[in-house]
Amino acid sequence: MAYDPSNIFAKILRGEIPAIKVYESAQTLTFMDIMPRADGHVLVIPKAASRNLLDADPAILGAMMADVQKVARAVKAAFAAEGVMLVQYNETAAGQTVFHLHMHIIPRFADVALRPHGGAMAKPEALGEHAAKIRKALAELPEV
Ligand code: AMP
Repeated sequence: MAYDPSNIFAKILRGEIPAIKVYESAQTLTFMDIMPRADGHVLVIPKAASRNLLDADPAILGAMMADVQKVARAVKAAFAAEGVMLVQYNETAAGQTVFHLHMHIIPRFADVALRPHGGAMAKPEALGEHAAKIRKALAELPEV
């Protein structure tokens, strides 16, 4: 299926709707998921248009994964998480609901269950606090 530029993440990239931004590079934008499955749940999206992983330019995927690694390390540090989960859905049958490629980054603790996918909206103030913690961790991130 073709890429539809009216999707909500394309609107965020064009500045047509707001997002709580965490990190931006030449190739990607990272912002808070508004229905977080755990505190600190962010989404990394490429600036280039693709519906999902399956139609993405491999060079864009490579650049995106470098930023995913950076943000995942910062999320883990910011929340003192025991682990970090990456999730990426391709097409409706697999659970995709927004059709612009995105990687979920979710901090995890062994004994804390995730909230449901597409569950409750978080309060903007809470998302703002979480974003600030991740931005601080990014600024302090040691080299790999
Ligand atoms: P999926 O396509 O299934 O990977 O899910 C899309 C994700 O985007 C869900 O986790 C939603 O909570 C999240 N989401 C939807 N709209 C927005 C938005 N305007 N800003 C931030 N996150 C969003």
